[in-house]
Amino acid sequence: MAAPRAEVTAYVALGANLGNAEQALRQALAALEGIPGARVQRASSLYRTAPVDASGPDYLNAVAEIATTLTAPALLDALQAIEQAAGRERPYRNAPRTLDLDLLLYGQARIDSPRLTLPHPRMGERAFVLVPLAEIAPQLVSAGALEAVAGQRIERRP
Ligand code: AMP
Repeated sequence: MAAPRAEVTAYVALGANLGNAEQALRQALAALEGIPGARVQRASSLYRTAPVDASGPDYLNAVAEIATTLTAPALLDALQAIEQAAGRERPYRNAPRTLDLDLLLYGQARIDSPRLTLPHPRMGERAFVLVPLAEIAPQLVSAGALEAVAGQRIERRP
């Protein structure tokens, strides 16, 4: 019998800016809980943020820490299935979206494949990723990284 795979800690960024964004994020967190082979260990607060490289109303964003026995591509498959189920359409690049799930980090993995780049290549440029990530995993975000995105509007929701 094959040995069980060890758990890896992964971080997922959640974003929504259409319809009831809060409900979309809460349903997405519940859907993450439902992925076989993954457990949500922590979830950040919800944050209201200005769109970056995107159009439409303000976003709501959050980051979740997941312990998983899935491989990184299998976890991305599960995230994309959740996005599809939330009715995401991609009429054009960076269109407003019902739900966007990005895999930020998967343990220490460095991957550069056509489908998956890890760490997520744009995470360091985005306050909407770094601020919620720092809330749940402060060891992963330096003061300098937060300083670099300090000009971006982001409000923690009460
Ligand atoms: P987006 O429209 O910004 O959600 O980008 C989705 C596309 O980015 C998909 O085609 C993914 O295969 C690809 N991708 C590459 N790296 C990642 C990652 N770390 N997390 C999520 N999607 C990724």
